[in-house]
Amino acid sequence: MKLRNKINLYTSVLFICLLIIINISIYFSFSKLMLNSDLERTVAEAKQAVNGIQKVDPSVPMEDLLLAYVPLNGMLQIVRDDGNPAGTSVSPGQKSLKDDLPVNYHQKEIQSIIEHNGIPYAFVSIPMISREGDVVGLQVTESLKSTDNMLNTLRSVLMIVTILAMIPVFVSSWFLSNFITRPITSMIATMKDIKESGKFKQIPLPKKSKDELYQMGDTFNNMIELLEVNYEKQGQFISNASHELKTPLTVIESYASLLKRRGKDQPELFDESVQAIHSEAIRMKDLTQQLLLLARNEDKWLLEVKELQLNRIVEESVRSFQKAYNREIDFVQEDEIVVIADLQKFKQLFFIFMDNARKYSESEEKITVRVAKSDQGAIVEVVDRGIGIPREDLEKVFDRFYRVDKARSRKTGGFGLGLSLAKEIADVLGVQIRLESVEGLGTTAKITFPPSNSH
Ligand code: ADP
Repeated sequence: MKLRNKINLYTSVLFICLLIIINISIYFSFSKLMLNSDLERTVAEAKQAVNGIQKVDPSVPMEDLLLAYVPLNGMLQIVRDDGNPAGTSVSPGQKSLKDDLPVNYHQKEIQSIIEHNGIPYAFVSIPMISREGDVVGLQVTESLKSTDNMLNTLRSVLMIVTILAMIPVFVSSWFLSNFITRPITSMIATMKDIKESGKFKQIPLPKKSKDELYQMGDTFNNMIELLEVNYEKQGQFISNASHELKTPLTVIESYASLLKRRGKDQPELFDESVQAIHSEAIRMKDLTQQLLLLARNEDKWLLEVKELQLNRIVEESVRSFQKAYNREIDFVQEDEIVVIADLQKFKQLFFIFMDNARKYSESEEKITVRVAKSDQGAIVEVVDRGIGIPREDLEKVFDRFYRVDKARSRKTGGFGLGLSLAKEIADVLGVQIRLESVEGLGTTAKITFPPSNSH
């Protein structure tokens, strides 16, 4: 069953059941109230008759007395203890009461509702002392036809009201179900559309409402936006990677064909070609290695997080870097710091910044590495006095394949992947990375461990 029909059915059935229960309870309480008050009235009439009969002079004939107290629509009867009537008076139109109702003597006071010919009657029996000194029962039977008619009318009105009330219930539940399912239906249609057309689409959302359905649609749109951005990034990444591979491949291809055509005749070409092919192959290998690293980073990394002596680790890395590249590096440490992190990932991150500081500064320019504490937490700074980064490129350098000066980066062997990898490592480690730079003067790269991860 469709969601819309379910909502429609459940709300309608619920409302109708409630309505029926309410109306039934109204009817029963009202009828009980009416019949009780009728019964009380009959009891009062019976007591009045008992008083009257006992007070009136014995010379007044019993028949006349009974006639005086007989109810308008009923019967007044004196019943002896042997069950025989000592006197009966019936109002006109109620003769059948005398003929059909069995006569019973009741010792105690009795009040009840009885039914005769489908009409309710109030029956009251009160014991009294007769003129002869015997205990007899004065019995009043009074028709409740008018009350019965009223209750019948009430029943019909309540039934009509229930049936009429079903119409707005059905209409409102239809509107409600439509209101709820419309955005869902439109979402399903959009999803189908996306699946069939292969294009990312957004659900049109109502401007005013900010309810849960709006939030659901909004979340869906955000998700689609994110998917679209990622999809485009992915496409961009593949096209950038192929572009990067195309250059060395073109160089290799042209040198190979040169060798094929003239390699045998001109041996001097041989060395140059092999050299070029070799260096381009190395460049391609570097690129594929970096691409592999990035691809592996897409998975959730398995981190081996533990307490690290930051000063010692940075100092060791600085020393080995110094040896490998023969660069002058100052190591400044202001505080002894322990951080909680993964050793290999931190080293990888630190190395990216060290490598950039080396690549984008001259070999005689000094690099400074500083380990210190601040309000924001522990900081590792790599300061170079190289070419710097223009202000407008400071944010973009973290994008994959972004290089400020492509020609220069190519010389340094960069592909524009280092900082994007650094950003991913930093996110996984929960540290902040930031670049501050003045073009022509140098760059400071900062790795900040939050206070919760350092002491
Ligand atoms: P690459 O492998 O090209 O160095 P990165 O992602 O590490 O890639 O850096 C992106 C770009 O940012 C570099 O091409 C360079 O132009 C610029 N850059 C990064 N670090 C520095 C730095 N310390 N000094 C000057 N420019 C830098």
